[in-house]
Amino acid sequence: MKYISVLFLLIIFSCSSYKDKALKSFNSNDLAMDIKVLSDDSLQGRAPFTIGEKRTVAYMENRMKEIGLEPAFGDSYSQDVPMVSVISKIPDILNIKTKHGQVSLKADVDYCAWSPTINNPIIIDKVDIVFMGFGIDAPDYSWNDFESIDIKNKIIVVLVNDPGFYTNDTTLFKGKAMTYYGRWRYKFEEAERKGALGCLIVHEDIAAGYPWDVAGSKNNTPLLYLDSPELANKQCLINGWLTHSAAVKLFNLCGLDYELLKIKASQRNFKPFGMNAMLNIRIENKFKKSVSKNIAGIIKGSERPDEVVVYSAHWDHLGIGKVINGDSIYNGASDNAAAIAWMFSIAKAFKSASELPKRSVLFLSPTAEESGLYGSFYFVAHAPIDIKKTIACINNDVILFLGTFKDVTVTGIGHSSLDQLLEEETTKVGRYVTSDPNPENGMFFRSDQLPFLKAGVPAMFAKGYSHQTELGKKKTQELINSYWKNIYHKPSDEFDPKRDNLNGLLEDSKLFYRFGSRLVNEDIYPKWNRNSEFYVER
Ligand SMILES: [Zn+2]
Repeated sequence: MKYISVLFLLIIFSCSSYKDKALKSFNSNDLAMDIKVLSDDSLQGRAPFTIGEKRTVAYMENRMKEIGLEPAFGDSYSQDVPMVSVISKIPDILNIKTKHGQVSLKADVDYCAWSPTINNPIIIDKVDIVFMGFGIDAPDYSWNDFESIDIKNKIIVVLVNDPGFYTNDTTLFKGKAMTYYGRWRYKFEEAERKGALGCLIVHEDIAAGYPWDVAGSKNNTPLLYLDSPELANKQCLINGWLTHSAAVKLFNLCGLDYELLKIKASQRNFKPFGMNAMLNIRIENKFKKSVSKNIAGIIKGSERPDEVVVYSAHWDHLGIGKVINGDSIYNGASDNAAAIAWMFSIAKAFKSASELPKRSVLFLSPTAEESGLYGSFYFVAHAPIDIKKTIACINNDVILFLGTFKDVTVTGIGHSSLDQLLEEETTKVGRYVTSDPNPENGMFFRSDQLPFLKAGVPAMFAKGYSHQTELGKKKTQELINSYWKNIYHKPSDEFDPKRDNLNGLLEDSKLFYRFGSRLVNEDIYPKWNRNSEFYVER
């Protein structure tokens, strides 16, 4: 008995010491250094294909080597991602003819549009417009807007978000929380699948989760796609957005009440209909093929190396753009240099632990997240690991430099059993798990976990966010609102070591090391919850 208890103590001691050693490796100097370098002006906002990409990739490969990660792609830390950038030149004025006259929409102000193809020119001549409600075909919610109408070769106008949003009915989809069916990506994908000639989404700030500037900025800028033969064979030749006021103008001229239709479209008996309106547009497409890089390093597991836990944080940002307050470099410090620092610090901890992880741990930094998550989509489709044996993806993105947080806000709570595991680890460090205060933003579908979710891999996207330790929830929410308004995707997303407090990031790094090391070292197979739109048997 004595012998057993000594052995037991020894085991406890050795377990805690290996964790202690790993936990001791975390420090804010490392975090600050990575953020400082990656958000420096010399990287020019880390846009794919630029000198900024070359410098970013070189720095990150070097860091992975220094930390002691093995290259994830054979003998290389980087994976070529073949892409095409397309600039669509659209007319300054888009005319739509209705029964009661013509509505003229101004580019940038009223509409934005592009053609996601490598054909040129795109000519749309007198094509009928159909109002499709939310444009959703969701068997899991027994909802199909496409059932009663043929939209082949028509332009569809759809509402952003999903039917639960405007009704506040928690039994309809997920109520206020956006499901994947509410995201623009889904709307454009579905329009393509159903054979529409074009799809225009009506923008509303809260329902979309971001202001018009973010949607409208797509005009006359190069948009990226993965290079594939499908790009030449698209059915859906225009994608775009209308502002709320442009939609109201158009619907009025068609004798329709937009606000009323929003409510009707949220009801089960809604039937889409032709608006008696016709659209003409000519788009000139210019395209260029280029190759960008995903970066990844791996620590091979000692017992089950083919089972992998993935940490991810995209490296790309928006590059050099429109001048705001005298600055044109979109440094992307909080989006996403800070998350790369988070990932590196966790990688270093795994390497500092006295025991090798049992499963493998892969640290992935995808490209082209900002232009449509294309790097992570490419990685999942061409992975150096078996995606079916990928245990989980732990992603991070958009980090606030506000100091420590009491909360751990889970974006997209309720999808899988990863929630319970995080809850356990969070409680141990005296914090609490909470859901996204703005679930209507659909943030769960807006970062690199999405390709993993679509491939059946449960994912966690969580961070201290909504309850800063000293400020409390209300004041924190004000700072969050100000971040989205004044800093997100602007040149002001910079790092200032004198102003910015990295203690929260430091605590989060430790927490997500603890969380990940349980997935890596224990016999845990996270499961999907039944009500997730990504549910698959695992
Ligand atoms: Zn980001």
